[in-house]
Amino acid sequence: MIIQTEPCQHCGSQQVEAPWTLCRDCRRVYAKTLHRLRHDMMLLQQVSLHAYKLGEPGAGGKPQGGAAPAPINLHAQDMLDQTEDGLQDMWNETGVESRPRWQALLRDAPRRLPDLCRASRSGHWLTWLIHACERIEPLIDRRPRTRRIIGVCPECGREVLAAKGETLRLCKCGAVIDVAKLKAEAADTLNRYHKTLTPTGCSQWLRDDYGLDVPAMTVKNWLRRGKLPSSKPVGDDGYYEFDIRETVSMAMAYSRRQ
Ligand SMILES: [Zn+2]
Ligand SMILES: [Zn+2]
Repeated sequence: MIIQTEPCQHCGSQQVEAPWTLCRDCRRVYAKTLHRLRHDMMLLQQVSLHAYKLGEPGAGGKPQGGAAPAPINLHAQDMLDQTEDGLQDMWNETGVESRPRWQALLRDAPRRLPDLCRASRSGHWLTWLIHACERIEPLIDRRPRTRRIIGVCPECGREVLAAKGETLRLCKCGAVIDVAKLKAEAADTLNRYHKTLTPTGCSQWLRDDYGLDVPAMTVKNWLRRGKLPSSKPVGDDGYYEFDIRETVSMAMAYSRRQ
């Protein structure tokens, strides 16, 4: 009798015998990843429950001041829900149609493993599972590492810290922060209060936007004499980051004297 073999759906390098669709090594990876996801989900749930308490009215979880609320992004709870959906779909392909909660599914995982490793799309699901862990882990990572402030949480106004390479962070209020997006927004906010210009560009900008006539040489003198203490040189090309308020009030005082 000829035994039918196919390449493993995950690694592609090992041949597997029906009814398996994953090789022995990848089945082991599957078991480990399910275990890892269970651990991650339980931690994420703790974080999200804690966050819900923090976010209740009167608990100080609301934004301070007049900053416009940014569009709400993903929450820890959303990530739990999305992962649960995926797990239910995954179990569904082994004939479980009742869509149990993630806690029950992951508790049941060791028993279900042989069916999962024979499923027709087991390779797809193993990849999905690894990605699910990778999405959750930055949010529950408590290892100390060098993080710097990248901006403030759009929902509660707390400072958000991120290390190099981190793409998602979880705020204490439960908001999931997209690091790249927040960095871009922080740069926008900075541009509302600062302008990066040469002294000539600054002179032009004061004329165009405020009708104030200040020669470029005067702007240069201010900078040289420290009259614009909040303005800083940017690079070596003669550009400065001008503090808008400081520069405009200086220019107004100057044009009154003329
Ligand atoms: Zn394999
Ligand atoms: Zn927050």
